[in-house]
Amino acid sequence: MVAIGVRGVGDDGGSAAGRVLTLLQRSGPLTRAAVTAELGLAASAVGTALSDLTALELVRVGEPLRDAPAGRGRPSPVVEVNPDGPVAVAVQLSADRVTAGLVGLDRRISHVRQRFLSRAETDPGVLVPGLADAVAEAALQTDRRCVGVCIAMPGFIRESDGFVRSSLHLGWDEVPLARRLAGMVPTGIPVAVGRASTLAVLAEFRYGAGRGATSMLALNCERVGVGGGFIDAGGPLTGAGHALEAGHIIVEPGGLRCPCGARGCLEMYADARALARAAGRRHDRGDTAAEILDGAAAGDRAAREAVRVTAGHLVTGLTSLVNTLAPERVVLMGFLADLYRAAEDFVRDGLMASSVVARTGHIEIVTGELRDAALVGAAERAFAPLLREPRTALRTSR
Ligand SMILES: [Zn+2]
Repeated sequence: MVAIGVRGVGDDGGSAAGRVLTLLQRSGPLTRAAVTAELGLAASAVGTALSDLTALELVRVGEPLRDAPAGRGRPSPVVEVNPDGPVAVAVQLSADRVTAGLVGLDRRISHVRQRFLSRAETDPGVLVPGLADAVAEAALQTDRRCVGVCIAMPGFIRESDGFVRSSLHLGWDEVPLARRLAGMVPTGIPVAVGRASTLAVLAEFRYGAGRGATSMLALNCERVGVGGGFIDAGGPLTGAGHALEAGHIIVEPGGLRCPCGARGCLEMYADARALARAAGRRHDRGDTAAEILDGAAAGDRAAREAVRVTAGHLVTGLTSLVNTLAPERVVLMGFLADLYRAAEDFVRDGLMASSVVARTGHIEIVTGELRDAALVGAAERAFAPLLREPRTALRTSR
């Protein structure tokens, strides 16, 4: 069976070569006959597309499957994306760090570098050139052609031109990030900017815990803040990672002031800082939440109570989201996956008790599977022009 997410390939008007490449990138190695059947194209059109893609070194044609079922004609050769083909530079910008790496069409991530940021370094005047350096440094790590860059970051982003309207956690307002970076990165590499949560959720949906689901709600927390996304397989997959400001659902009316201007937002009560606060830790170092979760697992009563309080807020937020969206599957990622593992029964029982929708249907709650979901999602975005029109994209990139 072909993984869900492959369905709909080609509905975006891409070329035949683009449709074949997209299918192979999403599903992994397939026989040529399976490609033809899946796309509903004439065998000759698939043959031409594969010749083009092989000549462009984007696809590799292997030996026919030994155990290919005996049928008419020759056994069908296996085709796959070239693991030594082009790369994308994927960058994840968080409130306190920059992570950059190279990602191939086979989603193999390499040359990952991470750098922590001081508060002063998050100023756009300092950070934008820093991001350009990180991109250039990553691109220099390989001889492979670099076809795109995508910065995955928190905030409200106009993705059509990579304009950051605001990023609460970085303190940014109105930063034309893609345009500025385009003038700084090695010539010819197109720059995209996307919302980290949406990209991470899209990656989980296509390649991780969302595979096979018809709809998926995901909540993600990288220590600070909560992001989310809702994806419905019924819609076109390109751009299906709808923004969902799940972190700003109000779970505690009149509660703590959130950087968004409201009081009592979910992310003030259910991120890793909130767990540290619930445990009475005044100084939240990067690993404080992990210590508390370890303490709870070891039976420490104060730690267990802090986990329960924080997970309770997560349940409150989930109740509103599940009642509104009725997802088939809920995927908890990052810190929220750790929190869920520490309080699984409590969260499940709490949601069943408080959500009328959870009680009436089958809602699975699972944890994310991808280690670097935001980087994988960023690479998806960076590869999008190549996957649509391979020949054109290669002509315009370095
Ligand atoms: Zn808020």
